[in-house]
Amino acid sequence: MSEFAIIDRFFRDIGPQAGSAGIALGVGDDCALLTIPAGRQLAMSVDTLVAGRHFPDDAPAAELAWRALAVATSDLAAMGATPLAATLALTLPTADSEWLQGFSRGLHAALEAFDMALVGGDTTRGPLSLTVQVQGLVPQGQALLRSGARPGEHVFVSGCLGDARAALSLLRGELKPDGEQAAYLQQRFYRPAPRLSLGEALIGLASSAIDLSDGLVADLGHIAERSGIGARLYLDRLPLSEVLQQQVPRAQALRWAATGGDDYELCFTVPPSNVAKLPALAQQCDIRLTCIGEMVAGSGVRVLDAAGTAVDFSHSGYQHFSGQPGEDPANG
Ligand code: ADP
Ligand code: MG
Repeated sequence: MSEFAIIDRFFRDIGPQAGSAGIALGVGDDCALLTIPAGRQLAMSVDTLVAGRHFPDDAPAAELAWRALAVATSDLAAMGATPLAATLALTLPTADSEWLQGFSRGLHAALEAFDMALVGGDTTRGPLSLTVQVQGLVPQGQALLRSGARPGEHVFVSGCLGDARAALSLLRGELKPDGEQAAYLQQRFYRPAPRLSLGEALIGLASSAIDLSDGLVADLGHIAERSGIGARLYLDRLPLSEVLQQQVPRAQALRWAATGGDDYELCFTVPPSNVAKLPALAQQCDIRLTCIGEMVAGSGVRVLDAAGTAVDFSHSGYQHFSGQPGEDPANG
């Protein structure tokens, strides 16, 4: 199969927005053309997943496609942006049509779920790797930045934390949950749900936001650093799923919740005057929202256990090229 046959068969203008007004030109020319409505800004982000580093070599193609788009789209959620379009740079060792079929199916499902169109890409031969770039629209000047947090604001997180780290142990054969629990964890790894409706609803309500890819302590650290202040985190308050609590001792579950990457939940800060609006928001977005700490003067993230003792997670958060040993989450 030629490069062009692959594009034609599997990647030509798919997704619900493909024919919409925002997509003036999709796949097939030298560039795609997007129309940005007045009063909006284009939010853009790119993420790469490499076989053997971010996912197992034999990972199912449809799951991989979902994960690649979800991981990239999660960055749009963290800015409060509404998805518009994506491009895909795909490097494949072989043109295996069964694999491509599965990949295209998973991609299509994710494009539908996030309401965006595939408007272009690049297809090359080499070791398996996927790069997805996403574009979204955000009200002019209102995107949720990492830099807007102030001392005295409350730190919230969506959903449950630590499941993706548990899924990694499952994929490595270190955990042996029953079928239902295994399916739950695998889904949390391969099918993260970008918190899009939450992100959009947080505009004008949250002062800063980030999506959790590196791990809570590391990612909240980015908010603290970019805002020029510190954060205090209460370990005991971290939301844990039933499955995670059943699979590992509480101390381990909390450590994974604090430092495990890949959860793709949103962490955000809220001024005290807006905190009362959160229960209605949680209901509207059908998601659990938990207050896990507060922003403080100073710098860094201080994690306190139930007894009020500081816990050191200073080597948490995965970094490529850091040369540090330690845990290697699926995505860095
Ligand atoms: P060029 O050489 O100008 O970069 P290509 O020959 O690589 O163009 O691609 C032809 C068209 O197909 C372009 O519009 C490109 O965006 C699109 N395309 C290539 N690969 C993919 C892919 N994996 N998914 C979606 N669109 C793709
Ligand atoms: Mg090209």
